[in-house]
Amino acid sequence: MGSIPEEVDLAVVGAGVGGYVTAIRAAELGMNVALVEKEKLGGNCLNYACIPSKALINIANTFYNTTHSQKFGIFVENARIDAKAMYDWRIAASKKLEDGVGFLCKSNGVEVIKAEATFLSSDTLQLSNGMSLKFKKAVIATGSIPSRLDGFEFDSTKIIDYKKALMLDYIPNSIAIIGAGYVAVEIGTLYAKLGTKVHIVARSDVLSKFDRDAIEIIKKNMQNLGIKIYTGSLPVSFDGKSLKLSDGNSIDTELVVVAVGLSPYTSGLGLENTKVELDDKGFIKVDSGLRTTDSNIFAIGDVIGAPLLAHKAIRQGVVVAEIIGGIRKSYDNIVVPSVIFSDPEIAIAGDISEKEGIKVTKFPLSALGRSIALDTTNGFVKIAADQNGVVKGVEIVSEDASDMIAEAALAIEMGATAEDIASTIHPHPTYSEAVQEAAEAAIGNPIHFFYGKKV
Ligand SMILES: Cc1cc2nc3c(=O)[nH]c(=O)nc-3n(C[C@H](O)[C@H](O)[C@H](O)COP(=O)(O)OP(=O)(O)OC[C@H]3O[C@@H](n4cnc5c(N)ncnc54)[C@H](O)[C@@H]3O)c2cc1C
Repeated sequence: MGSIPEEVDLAVVGAGVGGYVTAIRAAELGMNVALVEKEKLGGNCLNYACIPSKALINIANTFYNTTHSQKFGIFVENARIDAKAMYDWRIAASKKLEDGVGFLCKSNGVEVIKAEATFLSSDTLQLSNGMSLKFKKAVIATGSIPSRLDGFEFDSTKIIDYKKALMLDYIPNSIAIIGAGYVAVEIGTLYAKLGTKVHIVARSDVLSKFDRDAIEIIKKNMQNLGIKIYTGSLPVSFDGKSLKLSDGNSIDTELVVVAVGLSPYTSGLGLENTKVELDDKGFIKVDSGLRTTDSNIFAIGDVIGAPLLAHKAIRQGVVVAEIIGGIRKSYDNIVVPSVIFSDPEIAIAGDISEKEGIKVTKFPLSALGRSIALDTTNGFVKIAADQNGVVKGVEIVSEDASDMIAEAALAIEMGATAEDIASTIHPHPTYSEAVQEAAEAAIGNPIHFFYGKKV
């Protein structure tokens, strides 16, 4: 860190994926930028959430596939997991990315300040290192924290949050996850593949807001992994060994993971010293230009509300810097794709619900060469298109759905039609062909699946 400037064009509070991208883009536009972070560059995503979870999911998949590949003629005896090596890998991956962010900030001339920032007013931050920082504009990118559940206070050994669950340096014999969102599904599936007995306690059902066709596939796979899902009852108490449920049942478990959502992180920010207002859930209110109710202060990422996803924060980081730099007026992306790194992955862009004027077409992976060759036929692609054939939504349930959905997002942003996708050559044999096949079916020209005799 160099000497801290007394006044900057832009102060960014929080160096998660939203904050550091804002800082870099603003510096590229010629602004004098300070990026204030109280913990680690890269924030939750790089250090505690997206990256460690995906590293761990890959390790779990590798172990599981190694020990479950007899049908391919692969027999492995005495396969074992070194939990410490697993832990080290995760930490090293996050560290590499954290260092990379530091390098990029430095190279772009961003002043990184390691401190907690509190607003003293609409143009000054108090830093926990004792200094104060005046700014012309500020961006709040302080993200989110795990939501708490009454009666299940985090104690970091027996009742833990998602961060701790992804940072264990041992493999627990059993865990009970309270929560039914994607975090519960991802963490539950990966530990089940590592041999942990996993219980999920869900108020209604896992991923209850998602398309049932997709969820039935995911739930079946979770059950095949031995994951037990308890629905319709609430967790009551945990005595360190047994989790009691409201229906009188109890679950013997070593650990309880509370994964009941994410809450906006605004505590200690001193927003009462500004004109920034919060909505009824505590998220910072912004307009279409990502400006808060204080004209000097903008906000992006998790702290402004749904969807709480890293790529939304990243895009808003670029956009807010360009709005402040005067080269753009609003955040106007049409879709934010969402992905669940379940088994198989679910990825959605846009709206795939059946409604008037919208035709939804489904192509099953059981008809795809790549899926048959790799024994990954459990899945499908759905395309929703309007009467003019314009693509409004795509859902992919498949290996690598997380990568494939980018094509769908591009199609929707560009107003492409199903015919545009159908007539684009997709490499063979790949999962991406399933998107093309679904588009071919959507325009009435299915090739590799027979939808019924035409008369
Ligand atoms: C288990 C899990 C897995 C996830 N996986 C994915 C995924 O695969 N893909 C995806 O898109 N999203 C995923 N997410 C969501 C993703 O982590 C968030 O959407 C993303 O981190 C939001 O970025 P952000 O920049 O808004 O905030 P954050 O990453 O939360 O960063 C905020 C930063 O602000 C700092 N800060 C807070 N207050 C202050 C202050 N007063 N002064 C200084 N610094 C401060 C914090 O220390 C933190 O570093 C996952 C979340 C969880 C829980």
